[in-house]
Amino acid sequence: MSADTEPREELSTSEGEAVDFGEELLEVEGLTKHFTSEDGLLAGLTLDWDGGVPRPAYDREWVRAVDDVSFSIRKGETLGLVGESGCGKSTLARTILRLLEPTDGRVYFKGEDIASMGSERLRTRRKDMQMIFQDPQSSLNPRMKVGPIVEEPMRAHGMLDAEGREERARELLEKVGLDPQHYNRYPHQFSGGQRQRINLARALSVNPDFIVCDEPTSALDASIQAQVLNTMNELQEEFGLTYLFISHDLSVIRHISDRVAVMYLGHVVEVADKEELFENPKHPYTESLLSAIPVPDPRMAGRRHILEGDVPSPIEPPSGCRFRTRCPELVAPEEFELDAAAWDEVRAFMRAVDRQSFEADEPATIRREHFGGAVPGGRAGEIVEDAISNVLADEWAEATELLRSSFEEASICARELPAYRVDDELGDGEHFVACHLHRDADQVH
Ligand code: SF4
Repeated sequence: MSADTEPREELSTSEGEAVDFGEELLEVEGLTKHFTSEDGLLAGLTLDWDGGVPRPAYDREWVRAVDDVSFSIRKGETLGLVGESGCGKSTLARTILRLLEPTDGRVYFKGEDIASMGSERLRTRRKDMQMIFQDPQSSLNPRMKVGPIVEEPMRAHGMLDAEGREERARELLEKVGLDPQHYNRYPHQFSGGQRQRINLARALSVNPDFIVCDEPTSALDASIQAQVLNTMNELQEEFGLTYLFISHDLSVIRHISDRVAVMYLGHVVEVADKEELFENPKHPYTESLLSAIPVPDPRMAGRRHILEGDVPSPIEPPSGCRFRTRCPELVAPEEFELDAAAWDEVRAFMRAVDRQSFEADEPATIRREHFGGAVPGGRAGEIVEDAISNVLADEWAEATELLRSSFEEASICARELPAYRVDDELGDGEHFVACHLHRDADQVH
């Protein structure tokens, strides 16, 4: 891949050109961003009191916001990045653009490593990589008129003369669906959707190749959201743009994306073409997210995977697969040789003990309700019996810990980081999944 280092001053379009999804514009390799309690992001959040003196509660502990993330974005496509809030999506986006310094890893943009680039080269490169934020109000200076706001990045990068910049700003206002006559208005004179269009015009002013869109429509009403997304689609086609589009909303991701990456607690757990991911999800977390989308068909109700439990702390994330503490399909530890039905019962019992969701009266009642009368044979059964004794003694925490350390921690899910390439049935690309349920597929190193 050759680096395009020439600044382009013209308002170029890709009209008439075929969109090429083959060439990779951006490649992220092992990208990692850890914060310490000393970083500004955590200041004030983790203070503890020690003899009247405030000190960080997690002294020098690392918050593993993004860990060893790898994926690529092809020229002209939209990669949707989805996950619950707090999973690291925005940190990942900012680290890709080096608005945050990476702890480790590489970000190749047109073949050049952004992560190790010198400051002057980075400043020039930033022109090609723009970002649009969630809140269109706070990202626009209320004291500046809209025209100069759109012109600001062009001024910063020394593009065009004053007359040229104004002409381009008016042209861009029209392109994003605003009236160029509104060049002299202030941001407060526009609606939320219109303000996001102003942000789009500003991002486009320096003729970027790549735009990171961080929840750009989340603050907008559904109908306005759809209009802004449609405009973004049209602009992508016209200007040959590549988007990384972040959202927690799967319906928005489905509307705008060509491919989708799913993120959980700092890891990317699944990447596939949109149709493949929505129709043929392979990761239990993706399945849970998809099943949470409201559907009018009552026959789908039985297929729901309701996510239980809290997201673990990114300070001490679970070993192996980070989803394992909430996963309904944890792989059985091989040492116990449990069949599928027995393992289902043990898993359900572990969850019930963790949630203290049953009355502890007679051991026979517990065995009947959770194991059809008889616990599994062998060592697994002995552990279950010990846990039942704990529960009867009202030692729920001990029972939970015994089951967790004996079964969950012994699973391959806790011992090895999963990364597999599975057959892609509906898309025309690759399907990556970080789940040991697919350990017969090709392992990704
Ligand atoms: S690796 Fe194990 S815990 Fe993780 S999603 Fe797959 S089955 Fe669940």
